Amino acid sequence: MTLERIIQKLDELEKKEGKLPELLQFYHKILQIQAGVGDQLEKPIPGLTRDASMVRLRQGKPLLEASEFTFDLILFQNTLREVTGVFSEFSHFIGITPEALIESPPEKLVSRDFIEAWYAGEDLPPTEAISQDIIRELIHAAVKPFLMDHAGALIGFVEQETWRRSYCPICGGTPDFAYLEPENGARWLLCSRCDTEWLFQRLQCPYCQNQDQNNLSFYSDDDEVYRLYVCEKCKRYLKAIDLRKAGSEVEVSLERLLTYELDAQAREYGYLAIG
Ligand SMILES: [Zn+2]
Ligand SMILES: [Zn+2]
Repeated sequence: MTLERIIQKLDELEKKEGKLPELLQFYHKILQIQAGVGDQLEKPIPGLTRDASMVRLRQGKPLLEASEFTFDLILFQNTLREVTGVFSEFSHFIGITPEALIESPPEKLVSRDFIEAWYAGEDLPPTEAISQDIIRELIHAAVKPFLMDHAGALIGFVEQETWRRSYCPICGGTPDFAYLEPENGARWLLCSRCDTEWLFQRLQCPYCQNQDQNNLSFYSDDDEVYRLYVCEKCKRYLKAIDLRKAGSEVEVSLERLLTYELDAQAREYGYLAIG
């Protein structure tokens, strides 16, 4: 399972470096929770046939609608409690006060309505002590193993060549990382929510669909392993790794975390992250 491989790579990195940077320590703990939950889940039986999936994908509709995203609410709430514990531990780093999380326990606050609104990208029901942004982050971290489980059951239905849209074919989420294929340099996007990978045009912004080459460019490091795609139209950026240079041993979803300095660089240049 991918999460376990990522955790193992982080363990190795920690051994080598002595201590991980704080951001990676944080993700290390979140990943351990997610992997632990993933181990307890049974692969769901897809509610769609292959033919029905094909019809849906051709209409541009992701395979898992909010109403189809079923999961064990009690296990989710337990996961949310654990994730909240890690957020509290790193509260100084995330910019929240741990008291806010203790006084209004998110696992009591976040009901199915919250998750559906989060899933649809809509505003969450109003809350007092904790900001919507933090609740979104908490849901994102706690829901991930459940979403990945569904994605694993549905990915076989995705015809990559026919999808090529700017959102995830499984959950409709936004991409937050990309890689270039080792063989031919084709660009794949990675879903920020469920880690599904899908093929996408190299010369198009996945955030605003801009295809005007005068407004699209990328920065690259000296070894040309990493790229920072930027769009002048929407001012968003997308980090990427070129597997022709990096080799295929790389864990792409870990690279998304290891490249935090690229995020800082992008912000410094005046570009915005997704969200
Ligand atoms: Zn997704
Ligand atoms: Zn754009």
